[in-house]
Amino acid sequence: MSKSIYDFLNAELQKLEEEKLYKHERIIESPQGAEIIVKGRKVLNFCANNYLGLSSHQELIKAAHDGIESRGFGLSSVRFICGTQDRHKVLERKLADFLGLEDSILFSSCFDANGALFEPLFGEQDAIITDALNHASIIDGIRLSKAKRWVYKHADMRDVEEEDPATGKMAKGLERCLKEANEQGVRFKVIATDGVFSMDGDIAPLKDICDLAEKYDALVMVDDSHATGFIGKTGRGTHEHNDVMGRIDIITTTFGKALGGASGGAVVSSSKITEWLRNKGRPYLFSNTVAPSVVEATIRALDLLTSSTELRDKLENNTKVFRQAMVEAGFDILPGVHPITPIMFRKYQNSSKVAVEFANKLLEEGIYVIAFSFPVVPKGKDRIRVQISAAHSLEHIDKAINAFIKVGKGMQLI
Ligand SMILES: *Cc1c(COP(=O)(O)O)cnc(C)c1O
Repeated sequence: MSKSIYDFLNAELQKLEEEKLYKHERIIESPQGAEIIVKGRKVLNFCANNYLGLSSHQELIKAAHDGIESRGFGLSSVRFICGTQDRHKVLERKLADFLGLEDSILFSSCFDANGALFEPLFGEQDAIITDALNHASIIDGIRLSKAKRWVYKHADMRDVEEEDPATGKMAKGLERCLKEANEQGVRFKVIATDGVFSMDGDIAPLKDICDLAEKYDALVMVDDSHATGFIGKTGRGTHEHNDVMGRIDIITTTFGKALGGASGGAVVSSSKITEWLRNKGRPYLFSNTVAPSVVEATIRALDLLTSSTELRDKLENNTKVFRQAMVEAGFDILPGVHPITPIMFRKYQNSSKVAVEFANKLLEEGIYVIAFSFPVVPKGKDRIRVQISAAHSLEHIDKAINAFIKVGKGMQLI
């Protein structure tokens, strides 16, 4: 056994503590929901991806039980050897129909879906063009491919290369990247973007992205993990919201957020692409099948969301009520429509300390939120990221607003 690595890890972990970068986990002693129990105390939860309140929904819990009763606990096999049940095929069909594409292929997580996607499709002759703020799993998935890579400045569609004042580095717009890829004579091009960016809750400009993709003969890949089930009039996602259904080539998404929050993910695309991934996608070929209970509950989630828009409508209304009241109270909110509501502290001195202190005081008031500081967000962009859920009643929302106002006034910030 080696001693040197433990000396190294001890020192590095201590450094993380000193720099306040160590990730401490708060322990929840209850199911996920609008109300959770933390250290024996009931608090209102405003920081989960449980957008539709399905994480502890009775229908999903029942479906998960049904899945275990009818198809067992686990498959103990990858899909192509001895691990595909009829219900996996049903889920793949329903998910593709829900998102308006031909087919889908399941993975243990969206992290795996993104890890499986790029390497089999794009090689040395190809170009992957990616938004600078894309999720870590897209970045890692792209790393596994030998394709040439272009990074465009977040949501910048222009044909320019200029210094980004925020970083002092040169940055390109999407159209410039597409032009450069063409000049290098690449074979295939794909534009990869998050549908919703999780720190600001902003939505990718998919209409402009699709226009450019069509102009330059590129595929469009959208990771809609923070959108599937609730963004858009019927909850289909950012392609519905942006009115580009039918113009997106590949959607990846998760079952680990709005669709019940257990685990699992998928690539949703043309049947040729899913067929290729079933044959070549390494996390599909070398990792276990999604468990029957998760499959059955996710099918139920999609059935619920197909039969009624009630949950996403409630979420939309809750989000509007919260955002409007917080603006009226004088808080600095990044505008938008997403239930991710960033409350910014950029106008106060010592903003990262203020944000952390604010979050701690909110917890004393029974409101559970998290403050984000550098390096999770850029320097000076400290914030409390609130996430609204359809599980919240208007009473819960009011309680949160009143707590924010009380703490804000107490700290003389509003
Ligand atoms: C949460 C998230 C993922 C990871 O999903 P898992 O199913 O939990 O692995 C991937 N991409 C984006 C954009 C996400 O927000």
